[in-house]
Amino acid sequence: MKIPLTKLKGIGATRAAAFEKLGITDAEALLSYYPRSYEDHSVIKNLCEIAPYESCSVVASVVTTPTLSRIRKGLDILRFTISDGTASCKVTYFNQPYLKTSFVKGETYLFYGRFEGNFINHTLTNPYFEKSDIEAGGSSQPIKPIYTVGKGLTQKAVVSAVHSALDMCEVDEYMPSYILDKYKLPSLKEALDAVHRPENMAQVKYGRNRLIFDEFLMLSLGLFMKKSQSGRSNGAPCKMVEMAPFYDALGYDLTDAQQRSINEGISDMCGVSPMNRLVQGDVGSGKTAVSAALCYFAIKNGWQSAIIAPTEILAKQHYEKLSSLFANFGMSVSLLTGSTKKKEREVILKELVTGKTDLMIATHALMVEDVIFERLGLLVCDEQHRFGVRQRAAAVQKGKSPHLLVMSATPIPRTLALMIYGDLEISVIDTMPPGRRVTKTHYVTSKQRGQINSFINKKLSDGEQGYVVCPLVEGSDGLPDVKDAVSHRDELKRLFPDVGIGLIHGRMKPAEKEEEMKKFVSGESRILIATTVIEVGVDVRNATFMIIENAERFGLSQLHQLRGRVGRGNKQSYCIIVSDHEAPDTVERLKVLESTADGFEIAKRDLELRGPGDFFGSRQHGLPTLRIADMAGDTVTLHAAQETAKEIYRSDPNLLKEEHRMLKIKTQELFSVDKASILN
Ligand code: ADP
Ligand code: MG
Repeated sequence: MKIPLTKLKGIGATRAAAFEKLGITDAEALLSYYPRSYEDHSVIKNLCEIAPYESCSVVASVVTTPTLSRIRKGLDILRFTISDGTASCKVTYFNQPYLKTSFVKGETYLFYGRFEGNFINHTLTNPYFEKSDIEAGGSSQPIKPIYTVGKGLTQKAVVSAVHSALDMCEVDEYMPSYILDKYKLPSLKEALDAVHRPENMAQVKYGRNRLIFDEFLMLSLGLFMKKSQSGRSNGAPCKMVEMAPFYDALGYDLTDAQQRSINEGISDMCGVSPMNRLVQGDVGSGKTAVSAALCYFAIKNGWQSAIIAPTEILAKQHYEKLSSLFANFGMSVSLLTGSTKKKEREVILKELVTGKTDLMIATHALMVEDVIFERLGLLVCDEQHRFGVRQRAAAVQKGKSPHLLVMSATPIPRTLALMIYGDLEISVIDTMPPGRRVTKTHYVTSKQRGQINSFINKKLSDGEQGYVVCPLVEGSDGLPDVKDAVSHRDELKRLFPDVGIGLIHGRMKPAEKEEEMKKFVSGESRILIATTVIEVGVDVRNATFMIIENAERFGLSQLHQLRGRVGRGNKQSYCIIVSDHEAPDTVERLKVLESTADGFEIAKRDLELRGPGDFFGSRQHGLPTLRIADMAGDTVTLHAAQETAKEIYRSDPNLLKEEHRMLKIKTQELFSVDKASILN
């Protein structure tokens, strides 16, 4: 039921507007705004038994008078020490001066947080606290759900709104009861109560499991429905042609994996429906050659081909490599990007529409109305995660049911890939071209700063180039120990005054970013300081080192992707990961990176260690954003849901049975959230 938020107790127009910014406009949406995490305040420990980096509660008294110091404008620090008789702990609050009066020396409180420091000297930063009721012994709120809050909202506001929605609204069950019974799942109402106001963590798990099942089920059902709609017939039929001239011109032998992927593509293109294939291969595995072979195959069959790349630099790079390769066969290649001059563009478009152009390499500039092919037969999307489904769909419209090849460097275990790319066939390039040297990876702490700098100096004097990755763009008060790109550049400029040092980050305009990349590609800048925006796929062979600062702030797969920017030539490359964090999970993660270069292995470990998080940001794939399900951690539920979806789809493909009616509506809603409207 769509009850407007303002109908809920305690929500006025202002608060409703703040919720609207989060995309929450009615009670139903509010109830599916699930907590991001939970604090379990119920585990109370003695200070002396807490290990560093453990999160738990302590009941302790304030033993020093809280002191408030203003370090500088905008940075206030409140400090005091607590003790529970077994050990003591230093407590710090940043920028909450008003808390000074909340703590009285001699009084006892419950504190919850992540303990840092060591076994003897604990520290707590910005912990949750409440006045402890010694009689009751525990927290008044044993499990505290944590919501992501936007501007104008507090945790408290979200909690109170959610509670009033739970109390005031009727929840309509959409899951057929035979499914709930089969998997022993709670009702929707029970599940929502359990995730929003649980009494213990077991309840959270029980409720979450139901909601996760729902999302997976709908995702699977939606993909089945989508797949069944894509029964297009082959708009660019092909016959086998002699491929040897192409292979001979390459100048190297294809790896078995490349050859297999090409063969799979060719077999698709000769089939009754158009190719719809994903080629997945680690950075540097040679996906370009696979796409080029298929372009050659299509052109030989009389069709035009197109490759779209996410950035101008990548497009140019493809153009430079492929125009000379295809010239061997008298095939004509054009390049179209946002910066193609008007006159030149006219010529290019004319050659395209009259069919003179065989292969068009382009950026998003292709997706414009006046770009018309005479006979587009194959579309290749490089680094496909940078394109949404809609863009892919728009590009496909440039032909009549052309073949589609998408290429991705994000390795995803097969079961998950099937889930995400439900409608695509998959080829995997799982071996690297021979002779490639594995990038040597060293995990160090900032104590070795001197060595890091002399290493950079050595590489620069050898004429090589490298990247330095920082997690932040500019300094942040709350995070004094985190390197930021802007000040780190100043530091390196001081150390290496006569070396060109570039800077690239997400707050720059696309044109500025391209400019910085160009300078690096040309060698004008020798060090490129970057946040995580370094272009995907860029092949700067002279870049042989990468320093990643505060590596603890990046996910494993992300680190691997970053590292893939080096080691692309035949020189030995190095990746130095710098982190001072001692948390065991961080150390383990960074050690994985040091010990293996295999993207699939890393993806697997990443999923085990941390869940997919941003790596899976499903928006990138054009699929609905999952609110609760975490594809890795929940594989058992994933399989159950996939099985159920299959059964439903087999028995009732259009979901016309009454018991499936609500489920169909919910599935359609899920898939239309981003207006991508994949289903109808
Ligand atoms: P990616 O899969 O990351 O797109 P590329 O296609 O850019 O990788 O290939 C990386 C480099 O490896 C390119 O310089 C390419 O010429 C080279 N390469 C690709 N396949 C082979 C091979 N079979 N043998 C030797 N070098 C190869
Ligand atoms: Mg590539």
